[in-house]
Amino acid sequence: QRTTPFARRAFSTQFPALQRVAGVETVKNYINGKFTESKTDKWIELYNPATQDLIGYVPETTPEELQQATDTAAAAAKEWRKTSVLARQRVMMDLQYLIRQNQDSIAENIVQEQGKTFADAKGDVFRGLQVVEQACALTNMLMGEKLTVAKDMETYMYREPLGVVAGICPFNFPAMIPLWMFPLAIAAGNSIIMKPSERDPGAMMMLAKLAAEAGVPDGVLNIVHGSVDCVNYICDEPEIKAISFVGSDKAGEHIYTRGNANGKRVQANLGAKNHAVLLPDANKQASLNAIAGAAFGAAGQRCMALSTLVCVGETKDWLPELAQRARELKVGYGMEADTDVGPLITVQSKKRVERLIQSGVDEGADLILDGRGVVVKGFEKGNFVGPSLLTNVKTNMECYREEIFGPVLVCLNVDTLDEAIELINSNPYGNGTAVFTNSGPSARKFEHEIDVGQVGINVPIPVPVPPFSFTGSRGSILGDMNFYGKSGLNFYTKPKTVTSLWKESDSEHTRAAVSMPTMH
Ligand code: NAD
Repeated sequence: QRTTPFARRAFSTQFPALQRVAGVETVKNYINGKFTESKTDKWIELYNPATQDLIGYVPETTPEELQQATDTAAAAAKEWRKTSVLARQRVMMDLQYLIRQNQDSIAENIVQEQGKTFADAKGDVFRGLQVVEQACALTNMLMGEKLTVAKDMETYMYREPLGVVAGICPFNFPAMIPLWMFPLAIAAGNSIIMKPSERDPGAMMMLAKLAAEAGVPDGVLNIVHGSVDCVNYICDEPEIKAISFVGSDKAGEHIYTRGNANGKRVQANLGAKNHAVLLPDANKQASLNAIAGAAFGAAGQRCMALSTLVCVGETKDWLPELAQRARELKVGYGMEADTDVGPLITVQSKKRVERLIQSGVDEGADLILDGRGVVVKGFEKGNFVGPSLLTNVKTNMECYREEIFGPVLVCLNVDTLDEAIELINSNPYGNGTAVFTNSGPSARKFEHEIDVGQVGINVPIPVPVPPFSFTGSRGSILGDMNFYGKSGLNFYTKPKTVTSLWKESDSEHTRAAVSMPTMH
């Protein structure tokens, strides 16, 4: 039986297991292959969002410890880059096996720290696992190029690792998003410093243990915890060459600007407002089910949640049926098998979501389903909000302008597909969108005229699998190198070109050449 540093949180029917503050464990840093207690005197409380039980303390890692993580990563990177691509590929193969073996225990940890349902948490691990599987194709992806460019002269290009890179993660996918980052970074020959979300670091801790078992050497993967100070250290430390960030606009803009100012490569995936367009020729039942699932699944805490519905023409009359489907979703604790919608991550998030629902009402929208005030038996202190549906929403309302990040669907009405496209293209975000239709020409028009990076046609959450990349656009991304896929690997590597000349004899060299070579 594999044990993890967080095994104590494995699901038990006796949940909640941790009730006494005195017994609450601290989350360790992971530096140079060791789980070590921080010497900090600043700790962040970690709560189970379904119960409000205090389940851990996350350190604000000290500057000395952050430096230690960087030094160890830099030393490890020098050796790790010398290993062959095939050797690193083999480590990825073992890692994917170990993650599959431990998928359930990682998912259980996610339920307890993040709140999503167990089935959804398994999906969180699985969608990250797919990136590891893609990293197993490293040998093909890292293949270089070579061309004879003149007599006896060849140019070839291959990609080299950057050295030390860093990953800063959000709370909403505690396994998938770290797995967007560290496997490709390591496979490409870098060392990495991961900074998981301080709200749910457990999955990353478990993944680090598995990575070590898979053969990732000490120092190649490190974890430091904390919040703003820790992030600012990562932005400023010269040894860290690149930062992968996923999270809110505010933090992302800060990290992108500060990291760039310090000469770093930064990829930053930010917030979203994803619109679905519902056309009257769509399959009604399938579309309404897809929309309800994508709007309220994971309690709306997905960057690709379908948070906005644009009803074209008579489809606005379908909304009472949509509300009925949403009403049937069960709000509750994530480990209970029939739960559809878990809690929000914090008490503050719950209050914010409830306030945004009220703002819609105050500004004239119709609240045809109100999930506020829902009480889950046995979990009365949880941060639950039930599915909520605001209709007749206008684009100037706060509930439309803000990313709500809760189980709230805002619905707008238009008369034509052209109007729907214009409305979506006028929104600053460009993460994802979907159209529901049975018309090929309408789908094709939508696909080509919509200015959003990830488009679904009768697919509500069109997140590409890892042979492709995650291609949010406009306000949903800063930087131009996407996560995972070829672009992800390019982010963690830099190209080197070599031009070589090997002549058999010295006799052609009669005088110095001063003009630009014309490559005969
Ligand atoms: P967040 O920005 O609050 O936190 C993300 C990370 O940034 C954390 O590690 C946190 O410690 C750090 N951080 C937070 N505030 C900071 C500050 N002021 N200065 C420096 N660092 C700071 O995001 P979150 O609430 O954890 O995640 C939800 C957000 O992430 C949503 O906006 C969601 O759309 C977005 N998200 C986007 C994608 C995507 O691919 N586009 C994917 C997942 C989540």
